[in-house]
Amino acid sequence: MLTVENVRKVFGSLTVLDGVNLTVKPGEVVSILGSSGSGKSTLIRCINGLERLDGGRIGIDEFDISRSRDLAEARKRTGTVFQLFNLYPHMTALQNITLAPIEVLKRSKEQAEAEARALLDSVGLANWAGSYPAQLSGGQRQRVGICRALAMQPRYLLLDEVTSALDPEMTAEVLTILAKLAREGTTMVFVTHEVEFARRISDRIVFLEQGKLLVDLPTQAFFGPETGRDHPRIAQFLSKMR
Ligand code: ADP
Ligand code: MG
Repeated sequence: MLTVENVRKVFGSLTVLDGVNLTVKPGEVVSILGSSGSGKSTLIRCINGLERLDGGRIGIDEFDISRSRDLAEARKRTGTVFQLFNLYPHMTALQNITLAPIEVLKRSKEQAEAEARALLDSVGLANWAGSYPAQLSGGQRQRVGICRALAMQPRYLLLDEVTSALDPEMTAEVLTILAKLAREGTTMVFVTHEVEFARRISDRIVFLEQGKLLVDLPTQAFFGPETGRDHPRIAQFLSKMR
C-alpha cells in the first residue's frame, strides 16, 4: 500500500504541498487532477523519492521514503513515466529499457533483453528495439518510456502527464496501453489532463488545488452533481477541460 500522510513541501516561501493525505491500495488506479501549478508533479516527485519532504511521511509498502535507509527500497517499488520523454538519446530502445534492470536488479543481459523485448511487443513496438529515440515518434518514445518503467517491475506506476506533449493520435496510442495496464491490475497514480480518460480507467479521483487535496472520491461520485455544487472550483476546472 502507498500512504501519503500529511505531506508538506515548500520551495523557499512557497508552500507547494500543504498537508496532503492519500492512500493507494494494490490494484487501484487513482488519478490526480488539478490546474497547472497545483503541486501534482511535486507530489509525484515526493512519492518516487526525488524530492525530500518538509513534513509528514510517505510509506511505500513497509518502507518509508523519509528514512534514508529505506529510500533505495522505496524507490525500487515505484516506476515513473514523465511528461517529457527522458530516454537516453545515445541508447537504443532496448538499451534504454535494459539499463536499470541490469545495473540495479542485477539481471543478466540475456534475461533483461528477453524481458525488454516482451515489453516492447506488448506495446506494439517489437520491431523498434534497435531504434534510437530520435528515430521514434513521440508516441513511440513514450511507449518505450512506459516499458522502461515496467522493466523494473514496480509495485506502483506513477504517470505524470505522459500525453501532454503528444498530438491526439499519439495520445490515443499511449492511452490504449495505459487502459490495458489498468485492466491487468497495475497499480497506478495518474496525473493527467485527459479528464474523460481518467473517468474511464480510475477507481478514484483526487483534486489538488494550491497544494491541498480538495477532494478524494470514487470516480462516479467525483463526476456526480454534488462535487461541482460543493466545490465550484472543480466544476470550473471540469468545464474548461471539456
Ligand atoms: P503541477 O505539476 O501541478 O503543474 P508543480 O508540482 O510542478 O505543479 O509545481 C507546483 C508549484 O511549485 C509551482 O508554483 C512551481 O513553480 C513550484 N515549483 C515546482 N518545482 C520547483 C522547484 N524545484 N523550485 C521552486 N519552485 C518549484
Ligand atoms: Mg506538472
